[in-house]
Amino acid sequence: MDRTESTDAVSSGFEAARLDIRLSAIADNWRECGRISGTAVSGVVKADAYGTGLGPAAQTLEEAGCDTFFVARLDEGVALRSLVPEARIFVLDGAAPEAIPALLAHRLTPVLNSLSDLANWSGPGRPDAAIHIDTGMNRLGLPTDELAVLVAESKKRLSGLNVVLLMSHLACADEPDHEMNKVQRDRFRTALAKLPPAPASLSSSGGVLLGRDYAFDLVRPGIGLYGGNPQPSQPNPFRTVVRLTGKILQLRRVDCGQTVGYGASYRVGRNSTLATVALGYADGLMRAIGNRGKASVAGKRAPIVGRVSMDLITLDVTDIPRVKVGDDAEFLGDDISLEELAADSGTAAYEILTSLSHRAHRHYEALR
Ligand SMILES: *Cc1c(COP(=O)(O)O)cnc(C)c1O
Repeated sequence: MDRTESTDAVSSGFEAARLDIRLSAIADNWRECGRISGTAVSGVVKADAYGTGLGPAAQTLEEAGCDTFFVARLDEGVALRSLVPEARIFVLDGAAPEAIPALLAHRLTPVLNSLSDLANWSGPGRPDAAIHIDTGMNRLGLPTDELAVLVAESKKRLSGLNVVLLMSHLACADEPDHEMNKVQRDRFRTALAKLPPAPASLSSSGGVLLGRDYAFDLVRPGIGLYGGNPQPSQPNPFRTVVRLTGKILQLRRVDCGQTVGYGASYRVGRNSTLATVALGYADGLMRAIGNRGKASVAGKRAPIVGRVSMDLITLDVTDIPRVKVGDDAEFLGDDISLEELAADSGTAAYEILTSLSHRAHRHYEALR
């Protein structure tokens, strides 16, 4: 891939806030899912590839050998089709009657979530489809009663369809010891045994790490491709993809007893050196890390003091020698993991990624 460093923010030569996205790590993480699961690996690229950018992520995955993608929304499938003309694209949202013309026009494969989805999509020429069986998530997919009808009347209900995938989704794959994992796997196996044979898929990133009896014929990792740790209680097998840094715009000495930022919510307990950094909630940092989180400056932890504002955040760098204006502070990346930032933000790694903004200058590391 000949992809030079690029940015989608207006470039003026000075980049106070920067978002680096390592495409080679996305490719490595995808391959790692194959090694771990021993089965075929798709790429889940919904929500702008978890905030990393649909185009660069999908093209990277395709070049790594990925030929099957999942998106949530119809629009996401339409956008992806022009990027990966040959690939299989599954649309998780289903086949509402209004969606059918676009699904057909863009050769998208719907994931059918109900008996009415099946009826909507059935037709002459037997269009390809996935069927989603709910095994305990109680969110999308055929519930138990509809599955019973499908099993009893499978000849009739499936006659107008070419089922290319039977799938389900785990509720607790991030917790390896959770009893729901086995319960859902066994319900899925039972359902598969009662339906005409088709390739099967159960596991998202967490499921990939549950072991090969969760792998079936296709795994569907999302968060792991983008460097998240699908099971935060275990070491992360995946490489870091996203790095968010801001430059120190100003340093100041502050006397003991002074307050910092909006609401004067932090009072310094000693004479301190504070660094004001060009990143704020408009760059994707959560306001919840105010007075709670930390950044990495020159490889050392600097606590966040005061509230996060739209454009700025303040660090206590008193204990870090030789900090200067223009130095970088990392809030997410090699020193501060997605999971650490998410914990300090009171949210999940998923929400951190999908909240990344387009103000910070994006740099896509060339694949080779
Ligand atoms: C989002 C999603 C995935 C990917 O999940 P991760 O936890 O990000 O790996 C897989 N399957 C379905 C049905 C999803 O909605």
